[in-house]
Amino acid sequence: MRTTVGIVGAGPAGLLLARLLHRSGIGSVVLESRDRAHVERRQRAGVLEQGTVDVLRAAGAGERMDREGLRHDGIELRYRGERHRIDFPALTGGRSVMVYAQTEVCKDLVALQLEEGGPLLFEAEALAVEGAEGDRPRVRFRHEGREDVLECDYVVGCDGFRGVARKAVPAALSRTYERAYPFGWLGILADVPPSHDELVYARHDRGFALLSMRSPTVSRLYLQVPAGTDAGEWGDEAIWDELERRLETADDWRLRRGTITSKSVTPMRSYVHEPMRHGRLFLAGDAAHIVPPTGAKGLNLAVGDVVTFADALIHLGDTGSAERLDAYSETCLRRVWQAERFSYDMTALLHRDPAATPFEDRVQLARLERIASSRAAAADLAEGYTGFPLGERR
Ligand SMILES: Cc1cc2nc3c(=O)[nH]c(=O)nc-3n(C[C@H](O)[C@H](O)[C@H](O)COP(=O)(O)OP(=O)(O)OC[C@H]3O[C@@H](n4cnc5c(N)ncnc54)[C@H](O)[C@@H]3O)c2cc1C
Repeated sequence: MRTTVGIVGAGPAGLLLARLLHRSGIGSVVLESRDRAHVERRQRAGVLEQGTVDVLRAAGAGERMDREGLRHDGIELRYRGERHRIDFPALTGGRSVMVYAQTEVCKDLVALQLEEGGPLLFEAEALAVEGAEGDRPRVRFRHEGREDVLECDYVVGCDGFRGVARKAVPAALSRTYERAYPFGWLGILADVPPSHDELVYARHDRGFALLSMRSPTVSRLYLQVPAGTDAGEWGDEAIWDELERRLETADDWRLRRGTITSKSVTPMRSYVHEPMRHGRLFLAGDAAHIVPPTGAKGLNLAVGDVVTFADALIHLGDTGSAERLDAYSETCLRRVWQAERFSYDMTALLHRDPAATPFEDRVQLARLERIASSRAAAADLAEGYTGFPLGERR
């Protein structure tokens, strides 16, 4: 099998890249190790930055998002029972975010790809990327019980943190930067209307809590738990009781309880692999970097990477200049590190670090008070949350 761009992985990065290339007349083949149902049901991110919304619309993948997504103009910070709203449009010159689940983004992109795009093979597991240093990189993969080879002009590794593409970069050329956190998030989905119409980020002496939503009838809520916690240790009532404690306010706000339909623990990690390019292999999304979910940046970073790659390849076709492709890693990493910094800061701002001293606890509260009382500090948070520029765009 032969194609222009071999894409490993059909998460948001791989699916959107295939769509962008198809719209520009560039051929691609997507290899995905899991089946379609798994790709469409995996519960993950839910907040789309303004730039991501614009890209999905421009790619012709925004119709259902515009119908069913929830535009959010702010978030609420809670601490010591106080409530403080961050007004995005007022602080950023009009920007907002969209609450639309990653599962729905993937469903929309899978449907478009199968209807209009190039091959998307499910249950096709990439085994290795080979020959990245030469002109003809290859992906060795297994599909329907047989081993096969996909020959390409370029390979883009969109295969997430545990994929194989990153392994094709020689260890001597790889630099990794990592931080593991001593806590994770216990996340639930519940059949109950959200208890607030915007996301609520709560800092509490017992730990962080987040109130979020997937739709007007489905709530998504999270609790900070120690790293390594098994979701099964938490009974449903215990989860609601703990959420109630951490989200409590001094006014008459109340948490609505409902049937919990899913429960899982997400570990928290910051990770960056440099460079994001080796020869004709390009890494995009979680294959190259991970952020803790506090800043809602993971999916949005993946979108930024594939937009940068698609623009660079189109630019090569239009002008003959490989300048943008050559700058891919550098261009992406500038934005990646801003998102890493933002996600790290949001995590430190809101979580209880078990090793924190009483002094550090007081500094954390002082930071929150600064955001609540200074327009400049609030604007910095709002700019980071609604997203860093996507760079050169067509
Ligand atoms: C449990 C969890 C919860 C999260 N929650 C949030 C959140 O609340 N907010 C937020 O902003 N972000 C969240 N994230 C991060 C966000 O979901 C990711 O950043 C986003 O999915 C990145 O997209 P991606 O396409 O780069 O990678 P992925 O979505 O990981 O997609 C990679 C794809 O590659 C496939 N693949 C892997 N190996 C191979 C192989 N060898 N061959 C072929 N295919 C392969 C995988 O099956 C997968 O479909 C969460 C992540 C996880 C893991």
